[in-house]
Amino acid sequence: MIKAHGYAAANPTAPLAPFTFERRDPGPHDIQMEILYCGVCHSDLHQIHDDWGGSIYPMVPGHEIIGRVVAVGTHVKTFKVGDIAGVGCMVDSCQHCDPCQHGLEQYCEEGATWTYNGRERDTGAPTHGGYSDVLVVKESFAVKVPPSLDLKAAAPLLCAGITTYSPLKHWQVGPGMTVGVVGLGGLGHMGVKFAHAMGARVVMITTSAAKGADATKIGADEVLVSTDPEAMARYKGKLDFILNTVPVGHDANPYMSLLKLDGTMVVVGLLTGLEPPLNGASLIFGRKSIAGSGIGGIAETQEMFDFCAEHGITCEVEVIPIQSINQAYERLVRNDVRYRFVIDMASLKAG
Ligand code: NAP
Ligand code: ZN
Repeated sequence: MIKAHGYAAANPTAPLAPFTFERRDPGPHDIQMEILYCGVCHSDLHQIHDDWGGSIYPMVPGHEIIGRVVAVGTHVKTFKVGDIAGVGCMVDSCQHCDPCQHGLEQYCEEGATWTYNGRERDTGAPTHGGYSDVLVVKESFAVKVPPSLDLKAAAPLLCAGITTYSPLKHWQVGPGMTVGVVGLGGLGHMGVKFAHAMGARVVMITTSAAKGADATKIGADEVLVSTDPEAMARYKGKLDFILNTVPVGHDANPYMSLLKLDGTMVVVGLLTGLEPPLNGASLIFGRKSIAGSGIGGIAETQEMFDFCAEHGITCEVEVIPIQSINQAYERLVRNDVRYRFVIDMASLKAG
């Protein structure tokens, strides 16, 4: 076994603290990575706080992982020692169900194995994530990170990136479409960049007027402050598609009113309930749809990295030492991050 050092939550309310645990030795199909950077996703907070139920403690969060390959199993084909690899939200799946066969491992009928707060398929042992110094993972669940990308700014692509890229591709966002992105946070700012790069006109829909200038800089054509009823009325029926990244229960009816006939709003932010519930009228008048989308498959994650290399896309990040993680969480809750915290894992060695 390999001794790993990281930070873990002992229960839903304890601050994260140093934690030592074990990783398996790399098997024939595994790679071993020295973790360089790990992004801080709002899902980390949800799972630490057990917002979705069933959380497993102690929990080492982190699913936006970039590292250097330091060892490879005898059967590994795609990675060699020294390569830069990325690991997102999943480390395994059944590999034989229909979704897995179609590169949609996140929708595995047996349930994908999450990078942390999950259980290994064979042993049932808890999985631990990227707020740590070492990771052992099946090569088929790691992607190649193009060397041209700034690694610390590329780490959040593993979740914030793919979660926004995948629905924009699935709903064929492109030239001639006007796309709204709700919430300029970790996911939302990547949604703006991708929708812009795919050729759509982008309307950033935010509760924070002060973020407007940033939104424009990263590709938004227009900024709509959702707390301004007159501005919302001006955009009624103007959008073809909306990507909603809001992490908490909220009234989605006003957003639905922004859609054109046959428009779709895709929810990626919320796993719990809309509050108040969605009105039937919000769907009926204009034959509108609401849908959801979860991360993206491994092949699509690789495709997204190649798209990012081609278009020079990375994330806007604030790099922190792991020792600041609890303060970073407080700021994330206060909506005070522009636009993703990334942990520099070299800081772990500082103690
Ligand atoms: P984040 O960085 O905290 O950003 C969320 C943004 O939503 C905030 O910056 C804010 O933007 C807006 N917002 C916050 N509270 C709001 C409210 N009450 N009403 C309206 N807008 C509000 O979070 P994130 O890391 O992007 O994650 C967003 C959500 O996506 C989380 O719930 C996370 O668990 C989920 N997630 C889902 C998937 C998936 O596969 N579907 C993957 C990753 C994450 P403004 O200041 O611009 O309003
Ligand atoms: Zn995430």
